[in-house]
Amino acid sequence: MSEETIFHKIMNKEIPAVIVFEDDLCVAFKDVNPVAPTHVLIVPRATIGSLNQAVPDHEKLLGHLLMVARDIAASQNFGDGYRVVINTGADAGQTVFQLHVHLIGGRKFHWPPG
Ligand code: 5GP
Repeated sequence: MSEETIFHKIMNKEIPAVIVFEDDLCVAFKDVNPVAPTHVLIVPRATIGSLNQAVPDHEKLLGHLLMVARDIAASQNFGDGYRVVINTGADAGQTVFQLHVHLIGGRKFHWPPG
């Protein structure tokens, strides 16, 4: 079941965040605990607990989140790459149960991730 999360409060402007982009479908803001020089979260306005709760009607929205991530990345002067991550479920490190895309960049990353 999807519930209101801290990200809903940020999207509703009930608590502050550094918003870098917003439109009808999503809000992008800086992660409060960045793991890289640039760490932005792109969050759909629609309540979707995780990627597991996405349904076929969300297909266009999911594509939009990736295009927003790509466009923000293009504005960041990243070197030769960046990473886009969707942690899905507690075992993958998801802590906020509203779907979100992490855009992280500005340093070199390792693979596989930890
Ligand atoms: P997850 O672990 O669910 O994939 O990612 C949740 C992210 O949300 C974490 O990177 C965490 O630092 C970030 N976060 C948690 N609470 C807040 C908050 O109140 N404000 C902002 N800007 N980021 C938050």
